[in-house]
Amino acid sequence: MAGSLLSDAGQRLEQALKYTTISEDAIESLKFPQTSLTVSIPVRMDDGSLKVFQGYRVRYDDTRGPGKGGVRYHPSVTLDEVQSLAFWMTFKCAALSLPFGGAKGGITVNPKELSRMELERLSRGYIDAIADFIGPDVDILAPDVYTNAMVMGWMMDQYSIIKRQISPAVVTGKPISMGGSLGRESATAMGAFFVIQSMLPKFDRPPETTTVAIQGFGNAGAILAELLYKAGFKVVAVSDSQGGIYSRGGLDIPSIRHFKESSRRIQAMYCVDTVCHTTAEEVLTNEDLLTLDVDVLVPAALENQITEANAANIRAKMIFEVANGPITSAADHILEANGIYVFPDILVNAGGVTVSYFEWVQNRSGLYWTLEEVDQHLKHRMVQEAENIWAIARDLSIPMRTAAYVHALCRLGDAISAKGTRDYYLNGR
Ligand code: GLU
Repeated sequence: MAGSLLSDAGQRLEQALKYTTISEDAIESLKFPQTSLTVSIPVRMDDGSLKVFQGYRVRYDDTRGPGKGGVRYHPSVTLDEVQSLAFWMTFKCAALSLPFGGAKGGITVNPKELSRMELERLSRGYIDAIADFIGPDVDILAPDVYTNAMVMGWMMDQYSIIKRQISPAVVTGKPISMGGSLGRESATAMGAFFVIQSMLPKFDRPPETTTVAIQGFGNAGAILAELLYKAGFKVVAVSDSQGGIYSRGGLDIPSIRHFKESSRRIQAMYCVDTVCHTTAEEVLTNEDLLTLDVDVLVPAALENQITEANAANIRAKMIFEVANGPITSAADHILEANGIYVFPDILVNAGGVTVSYFEWVQNRSGLYWTLEEVDQHLKHRMVQEAENIWAIARDLSIPMRTAAYVHALCRLGDAISAKGTRDYYLNGR
């Protein structure tokens, strides 16, 4: 495996291989991404200048179906990161039994520095550059960090212009009016909520006495915070990229969401002028939030937040990974040694891609579902696969992450082997 992030992701594969009997051919074909595309996207900026941005689309494996995965806009996007994210998507889709392979895209850009018109030109330029590489039966895009329904709409529209036919199924997470699915916007949070709800009783944890800290207050983190708050959990800390707030008695999440939506920093809510000193809330950094003494910690921001450097300081009893890759493989071992139970990203945050699958199905059938139907199908799948993975973890006495990879590997191995293995060709088996 090439880059450092990707080789870290590969460690998880190594761990899981010990518990499966998949063919060597399957292992060999999962070692490297199938196709990695790097493109340069020229964009005419509002001041008349021309700027060229680097973009990527990686298809890791498509044995189980067309590539599927989001597109990320972030200044730190690299090919190595996109390859790792595509690797995770491959295992996520297999773990949830979605008929997709894994893919991912990204552009190295700080979208906050672009005007809306520049953002539209960049998004359409990205599709111009990768149009021959994607398609409803080839590779399907979706939102990820700092991309949203609007961006997906531009991308679908641009692809349709290039192909001269309306092609809603090439992108999921679109605006509802352009063929998007009800429930897609909240799907990642909703999926994580269903996993948390189904797993906590196994630890004898009723919501009222369960404290939660959430790092990241974007689409997934903020909606999950509200779902947990409404279900009676005590959400004691939340943070965004600027910092966070903590209250031992629990935070008023709907008010914080309301405040944040008017595009202010979370910390500012309690720490502008005198307010800071008159409320029970304390400000804290993102790093402090991770080490709070809580029952449930939810990293819902970016990858590599819990590493060898801070894993020993984590005091939460359980971690539910809503971000992709927030814990490094070295940190996994430290957390495990300290008895901290980790529920992995490829299960916990799979609600997003699961409803993306439902959106793709709706686009192709032309029949659209109600929100109740979407949520009901999502709950069924999330709970069923969480229970399957739980049973593997229990039966083999292995961590949930390894169990999730074992579960996904069996499905991937079956699909790869169905095309023939060394044993089949040489020994007739
Ligand atoms: N970006 C999301 C993820 O990492 C969603 C991907 C999708 O819907 O295809 O799972």
